[in-house]
Amino acid sequence: MYNQWEHYQIMDGIAIAVVFRNKGNEHIRVCPFCRGIHHHAVGHSNYPSATHCKNKRGFAEVIAPDGTIMKQIHGYIIREVQ
Ligand SMILES: [Zn+2]
Repeated sequence: MYNQWEHYQIMDGIAIAVVFRNKGNEHIRVCPFCRGIHHHAVGHSNYPSATHCKNKRGFAEVIAPDGTIMKQIHGYIIREVQ
């Protein structure tokens, strides 16, 4: 069972989910794996962060419209947007 998420970035051949955070905000907009809103300290990184999913009910994997699969265990990349 998959949930859908269309944003990802390929790193070392692995598709990493990309999540968004408004600039200056300490919470991401939404997590593709559990649909939660997680706190991450302000600061930009191009490397994946571990997801902060608290429950186990989330999706371990999500899929993009093009068939690319992103796995929760690979974390996500937080991208700041205006
Ligand atoms: Zn989550």
